[in-house]
Amino acid sequence: QPATTSAASTPEQYPTSHEQVQTVIDTHNFLDNKFVPSKATTWIDLHDPATNNLVTRVPQSTDEELKAAVESAEKAFPEWKSKSLLHRQQIMFKFVSLIREHWDRLAASIVMEQGKTFADARGDVLRGLQVAETACGITTQMLGEVLEVSKDMETRTYREPLGIVAGICPFNFPAMIPLWCLPIATITGNCIIIKPSERDPGAAMILAELAEKAGFPPGVVNIVHGAARTVDFIIDEPAIKAISFVGSNRAGEYIYTRGSANGKRVQANLGAKNHAAVLPDCNKNHALNAIVGAAFGAAGQRCMALSTLVMVGETKDWVAEIAERAKGLSVNGGFEEGAELGPVISPQSKQRIEELIKSAEDEGATILLDGRGYKPPKYPNGNWVGPTVITNVTADMKCYTEEIFGPVLVCLNVDTLDEAIELINKNPYGNGTAIFTNSGSTATKFQHQVEAGQVGVNVPIPVPLPMFSFTGNKKSIAGGGASNFYGKPGLNFYTQLKTVTSLWRAEDALATKASVVMPT
Ligand code: NAD
Repeated sequence: QPATTSAASTPEQYPTSHEQVQTVIDTHNFLDNKFVPSKATTWIDLHDPATNNLVTRVPQSTDEELKAAVESAEKAFPEWKSKSLLHRQQIMFKFVSLIREHWDRLAASIVMEQGKTFADARGDVLRGLQVAETACGITTQMLGEVLEVSKDMETRTYREPLGIVAGICPFNFPAMIPLWCLPIATITGNCIIIKPSERDPGAAMILAELAEKAGFPPGVVNIVHGAARTVDFIIDEPAIKAISFVGSNRAGEYIYTRGSANGKRVQANLGAKNHAAVLPDCNKNHALNAIVGAAFGAAGQRCMALSTLVMVGETKDWVAEIAERAKGLSVNGGFEEGAELGPVISPQSKQRIEELIKSAEDEGATILLDGRGYKPPKYPNGNWVGPTVITNVTADMKCYTEEIFGPVLVCLNVDTLDEAIELINKNPYGNGTAIFTNSGSTATKFQHQVEAGQVGVNVPIPVPLPMFSFTGNKKSIAGGGASNFYGKPGLNFYTQLKTVTSLWRAEDALATKASVVMPT
């Protein structure tokens, strides 16, 4: 069964192995609640990262198709906006229950196109599903404010949708990131156009199918495909009022700058280099397991991967144990029983990661555990990099200054907590950080002084649940973090306030002369 849907399937119809896909079905656009074959002349081949077999072809959607998505959304918006909030909430309840029903099918698509293990891919779906579940309760947050200004005058605020909004997604969370955008955008009355990553659009296509089944009217959710050209269309299309972007700094800074210059709201979550400070007084066993899990899970391709270890004082002697635990991880095809990390996304990505490991070697660091050259016997053609631990790293080395985005842990040594905080604060990225300690005062000092948007205390990947917000800072978010995904900031991003002031004064009818001064 092909992983990428272009037609509806049942929750049970999904691939369970990396066997060669017999019939390669092109990925379609999703317009007006229908899967529409593209008339593209340029196609992007999508390969299973575990085998490099062709899975599907993704179109570079044509200008006509991109315009059709906008026209479809423009047509849908007035009626969708005027539906009651409770009506939209009922559709969201249905959407949530369909995602649960198709959970494994969504996860299988992610395994096939992105390379995650099946268990981890289920987590990708769940973290997005939780945003949709929380969005069902947005009814109370949609309340406006009323002030009785005087006995006959009042001012009220209303939250109104923006119109058409767009989501531009990265490859590393094919279900979660579309679900950071779609539920909040639509329940608040917007229509959304999603451009999934051209490297793994399958999960977004299944979500589109489920959106239609849940009762979203045609045009409220549209999906278009492609790479930079589609992005440029979205940035420059005047009817699109807001863009939610998640991805690299290179693309995101460009989208933020040009999108903002075009008068759009843009929220953009970008790259990362997340540090963990390990203190000698921590629960060692918990810390080592947490670090290994967070550094190598999803083959290090999470924006919150714990890629950098700051070993304080004597904890520098723990690296051998970290390498030992990392060595024990099972690297295999994501459908294989017991697989703990899968391949990286592409041969180019593998090559880049290996070059960064080599650069560390050349610059004098120690490759304590070397994952280069590893291949699971059943999958000789995949994009494999085994867990790699690099020690004796210094802050000027390329493996430290660049986001590696692979299963590579770089370890630096410092003598004190103050030095650890200084190092973390000097790093330009500020997505997340963690401290491992059993001292409340040490943790409190770290929490207050460290400059990163998400802080974990004995928690390696402190991504907040959807009642909070994803709060990276510094270079990890564009525009100084003026807008965050989901939670209250997400609601603010997808709505604009309208303030209505009313005067109902019977005496006014008797006045015969206009007043031209500002009321005082
Ligand atoms: P990417 O920037 O290559 O791609 C993201 C999106 O931008 C895709 O849809 C792609 O088509 C588009 N794009 C790529 N290059 C473009 C260009 N030159 N012009 C216009 N559009 C372009 O990112 P990726 O490799 O898919 O994802 C990995 C990156 O995303 C990492 O840096 C990771 O840290 C980051 N990320 C950040 C968060 C976060 O919340 N901070 C979450 C997930 C991923």
